[in-house]
Amino acid sequence: MTAYVFDFSQGSKDQKDLLGGKGANLAEMTNLGLPVPPGFTITTEACRAYLQEGGDPAGLAEQVSERLVALEETMERKLGDAGDPLLVSVRSGAKFSMPGMMETVLNVGLNDESVEGLARQSDDSRFAQDSYRRLLQMFGATVLGIESAVFSEALDAAKKAKGTDEDLDLDTDDLRDLVATYKQLIEEHAGRAFPQDPREQLDLAVNAVFDSWNTDRAALYRRQEQIPDDLGTAVNVQAMVFGNRGMDSGSGVAFTRDPATGNQGVYGDYLQNAQGEDVVAGIRNTVSLADMAEVDRTSHDELLEIMEKLEKHYHDMCDIEFTVEDGKLWMLQTRVGKRTPEAAFRIAGHMVDEGLIDLDEALRRVTGAQLAQLMFPRFDYSSERNLLAKGMNASPGAAVGKAVFDWATAVEWAERGEDVILVRKETSPDDLHGMVVAKGILTSRGGKTSHAAVVARGMGRTCVCGAEALDVDTKNAEFTVRGGTTIREGDVISIDGTTGEVFEGAVPVTDSAVVRWFEGDKDPEITDNPLVQAVARLVEHADQTRRLQVRTNADTGEDAARARRFGAQGIGLCRTEHMFLGERRELVEHLIIADDEAGQEKALDALLPQQRSDFLEILESMDGLPVTIRLIDPPLHEFLPDLTDLSVAMAVADVHGHRKKRQRKLLAAVQRLHEANPMLGLRGVRLGIVIPGLFTMQARAVLEAAAERIKAGGDPHPEIMIPLVGSVRELDLVKQRIMDVAADVQEEAGVAIDFSVGTMIELPRAALTADQIAGSADFFSFGTNDLTQMTWGFSRDDVEASFFSTYLEQGVFPVSPFESLDTEGVGTLVRTAAAKGREANPELHLGVCGEHGGDPASIHFFDEVGLDYVSCSPFRVPVARLEAGRSALG
Ligand code: ADP
Ligand code: MG
Ligand code: MG
Repeated sequence: MTAYVFDFSQGSKDQKDLLGGKGANLAEMTNLGLPVPPGFTITTEACRAYLQEGGDPAGLAEQVSERLVALEETMERKLGDAGDPLLVSVRSGAKFSMPGMMETVLNVGLNDESVEGLARQSDDSRFAQDSYRRLLQMFGATVLGIESAVFSEALDAAKKAKGTDEDLDLDTDDLRDLVATYKQLIEEHAGRAFPQDPREQLDLAVNAVFDSWNTDRAALYRRQEQIPDDLGTAVNVQAMVFGNRGMDSGSGVAFTRDPATGNQGVYGDYLQNAQGEDVVAGIRNTVSLADMAEVDRTSHDELLEIMEKLEKHYHDMCDIEFTVEDGKLWMLQTRVGKRTPEAAFRIAGHMVDEGLIDLDEALRRVTGAQLAQLMFPRFDYSSERNLLAKGMNASPGAAVGKAVFDWATAVEWAERGEDVILVRKETSPDDLHGMVVAKGILTSRGGKTSHAAVVARGMGRTCVCGAEALDVDTKNAEFTVRGGTTIREGDVISIDGTTGEVFEGAVPVTDSAVVRWFEGDKDPEITDNPLVQAVARLVEHADQTRRLQVRTNADTGEDAARARRFGAQGIGLCRTEHMFLGERRELVEHLIIADDEAGQEKALDALLPQQRSDFLEILESMDGLPVTIRLIDPPLHEFLPDLTDLSVAMAVADVHGHRKKRQRKLLAAVQRLHEANPMLGLRGVRLGIVIPGLFTMQARAVLEAAAERIKAGGDPHPEIMIPLVGSVRELDLVKQRIMDVAADVQEEAGVAIDFSVGTMIELPRAALTADQIAGSADFFSFGTNDLTQMTWGFSRDDVEASFFSTYLEQGVFPVSPFESLDTEGVGTLVRTAAAKGREANPELHLGVCGEHGGDPASIHFFDEVGLDYVSCSPFRVPVARLEAGRSALG
């Protein structure tokens, strides 16, 4: 018989798969001897079985009964007993935390009788009625599927009738009336009475938690966070402790370090006379942990002691939930806390200094995606701006957009390409759709631990929360700032998640401190910045650790120079097509419409010096490092006027009777070169074979530039790369000509040039015949963009916008294969080609130049396959350095 239920004392933090994160950590805390209310965990395996079978798996009910009896014995009370009831919470908890996505029901076991028992036992009728109305509300919403607004509106009405906004002003009778109202609402909306049988309550709540795994918003969250759909959630059944038992009680959440900045020292929110869900929901304003010390010194000190113990035990920043009942502290949850990118780097650095972890571990704890976020632009604080309000700096970044006040508008406007900021009083899980598409999120209530803050941090979305000076009116889609200004739907605002500031209009943005440091800015404001120091330390450690080299894709001297400052070890891809655009386009036209070889040669001769000067600049900026130059790749008609435009122009010219000979030739050329599938047409090496002069002119330009650099005392290392090769014969044909040119140039200049000739691997055929090709190539560079297109048989420009969203939704792939390498398909070709190529030519140098070279997951794959380098855009170079280091740690 499968064991589906485990006591907290039976588990450990390493069992997240089976017990979920919450259950595993409750078990860990129990075994550490911390004050955790006793309870048990129903496994994710039970949930999976339930979802698959459409009902409780065999044996589950009996196992729950067994554990429940044991819990009742420990607590010396029976669930829902009329005289002295044991109450429990039923809490969801999946392997990965999904804040606010799934459901929890508190105070299970209360009914019309046991509520009186609770009142007598606690000598507090108000508390008992308050607990009961909470149960009705949570049970009604979670288990019976009633809109929670139904209950909150009734609660608001009760407060209004009393002439107050404070839930604490409601007395016993008010709450008793509210209980009666809630029961009636349940009958009305669910078509059934609230179950009075405590065990039925428990079983229904457990099933509701299982079912909540499959709600739309949970599924959306998983897609967003790339959490697999088939994990299921565990359920924790735990004896209740009461933070709503008067002013000597309360609930709170805390972090062992500041999750926004990474500053050392605890950070938290506490709310007197409240149950846990009140803290996060932002019902009342919380107080800080320092203020909690004033209210209840003993619990506060014990809490701090426990937090220190947890950090030492987990070797990481933890977040916790706790409740104080009548001056006694209880721990309700802990986990390794989510944090901003800034906090991730700074905490990792601090923990190394504190001797909690070593540098390798610190490197494992930060990601390239986080570093990329730290390189985003910031607001330019030298510009003029109008501060509207200041809230909490919940999730960093500089976001500018139009204010919208509900998630549906956010989605609609974002879909038509507008930047939006979602403004709410506070967010709920329903707002997730809007939060995903918004540039930033702004709320007027709630702290750094509110739903908005937690979710925004998780998604890396800019967020300012608890901007209390804002009066948000979602019904009329506007907010008013205390003191005057009104911002309506569609008005542009700017929010700074790093400072918590909210501005009217669009504030200009500037480089982040991290980028300025990479750029070599020596201003003490930059070099003494603690974040910069933390980043520098870990990127340098990554450099010392990694095997994989990092190059850049750069087409201009300027880009090359920047990438070099960012740590690039050469150029992996220098495209040459832009060297045929602008004013030079006309020279290309001459080449294409030339009547004979002499005409072609003349056009090429005109292009040569221009290209040479481009290469000179690039070789100079990468002096001493390898520079891979790809010969012209796109189809020639890209350099000619558009067919339709030209036809129209000709027709007009005809009418006026002054049609020119050159235009006629041009039109003929455009018609001749027109292709149904240009991506699969006359391009790459095929051009080099059909118009041999084109490739030899480019090779000559590269080599002459190199010779000139050598004469000027430079140290150039050009690598000439042939695109779109499918067969070794193609490569051989053009390579021979390039070698002839090279011999000429070296003789003419009287210098020996260190150069090589290689090819891109971007066609499946090239990958499959890599052993043959390797015999004629000094290097392979995987062009993973084209390789992905050619392997899947789709053209990126056509498919991404049209059906990728459907494919992602239906799980054909978890992430676009253009963003992150499809390791199973395209990756197999890369692996095969690398192995075959190396076997045939042990000297073969291997790299990748597609955009995947800057994608963290793909970098780990390329490292594992044994490539020598990745190449990516200049801004991704630091990210790639970091990830290559992390990859080397295994
Ligand atoms: P979430 O995952 O949304 O945080 P939880 O299961 O942690 O949901 O529960 C919601 C709130 O109820 C939390 O604040 C939690 O601390 C509180 N809570 C859960 N179980 C108990 C309990 N046994 N006694 C008192 N408060 C509880
Ligand atoms: Mg919780
Ligand atoms: Mg290509």
